[in-house]
Amino acid sequence: QQQIKLVKRPVGTPVKEDFEFVQAPIGEPAEGEVLIRTIYISVDPYLRGRMNDVKSYIPPFELDSVITSGVIGQVVKSKSAKFAEKDVVTGSLGWQEYSVAKDSSIRKIDTNLAPASAYLSVLGMTGLTAYFGLLDIGQPKEGETVVVSGAAGAVGSVVGQIAKIKGARVVGIAGSDEKIKYLKNELGLDATVNYKTDDVKTALAEKCPDGIDVYYENVGGEIGDAVLPLLNKFARIPVCGAISAYNNEEADIGLRVQSYLIKTSSVMKGFTVGDYASRFKEGSQALAKWLQEGKLQYEETITDGFDQTIDAFLDLFKGANLGKAIVKVSEL
Ligand code: NDP
Repeated sequence: QQQIKLVKRPVGTPVKEDFEFVQAPIGEPAEGEVLIRTIYISVDPYLRGRMNDVKSYIPPFELDSVITSGVIGQVVKSKSAKFAEKDVVTGSLGWQEYSVAKDSSIRKIDTNLAPASAYLSVLGMTGLTAYFGLLDIGQPKEGETVVVSGAAGAVGSVVGQIAKIKGARVVGIAGSDEKIKYLKNELGLDATVNYKTDDVKTALAEKCPDGIDVYYENVGGEIGDAVLPLLNKFARIPVCGAISAYNNEEADIGLRVQSYLIKTSSVMKGFTVGDYASRFKEGSQALAKWLQEGKLQYEETITDGFDQTIDAFLDLFKGANLGKAIVKVSEL
């Protein structure tokens, strides 16, 4: 089988040469383990951080080791009482065509509720990130203005829709006309800003005549800066991501936030979805319910073929994906 290893720590924007495809034997499950055929691999911006040799909330990838991320797969051999052949499962597994996993490290998914890939998108880690960051930290109220950056991406598209469900006026920021159309026509957002063609400061001021009550931060950089002068009293800023800075080689210095937060008594709070592990069930149930009620839609950009995994990952930094970026490795 093929595997993908990290062979060089990327400097700046990652390149293909930082990774290597290698051949390896398919493992044999021991007692309490299963052999899984990979169906879908999740490619995520946070993996970029794990490629640096720095201390973070999650350990860095070791050089010459197989990259891991969220995977959906099908059990092909089971030595566990908890799983049977053909079960569809998810877990954090390797970028490889087959994985041997402990039964405690994976869980079954219900493909009657939604297609398997949805467990990497709206019903998976990115959906939960949107749910907890927005509702726990952002706490949008009816009639408030919520601004979300990375609005057409996996997390952002769910944030915008939950904010609408909560009765907020939602302004989405994204980087292409196609994405802007999607936000307006499919997700029904109230206003949009294309940060590549609009002057973000001016456009935001125009699109937020009543100021900003919640800013869901996915991208950082100049977009995050443009929001600060528009904050209302008691605004909330869930700091989810800062993708615009992930490939920077030098510290990212922009507007200093203190005076904006003081003037408005606003809260800016970083978080990782793992902070909410004890509430994942609540989040998954709420997302599944909205999905079933037709209140939540989701988009996925599915790239075909294991050999395309690295390209799909690199494409995240070019904004090629609408909704969740996923690689399809084999048929379910
Ligand atoms: P997305 O699906 O949003 O994909 C990334 C998108 O980011 C691209 O499509 C692109 O959209 C945008 N982008 C890329 N480069 C830039 C740039 N320089 N400036 C502005 N936008 C850029 O990914 P996710 O939804 O998975 O993740 C969104 C954010 O949330 C990331 O920052 C990620 O790290 C973070 N995250 C945090 C988690 C947590 O636990 N805190 C968990 C999951 C994600 P466009 O065309 O609009 O530029």
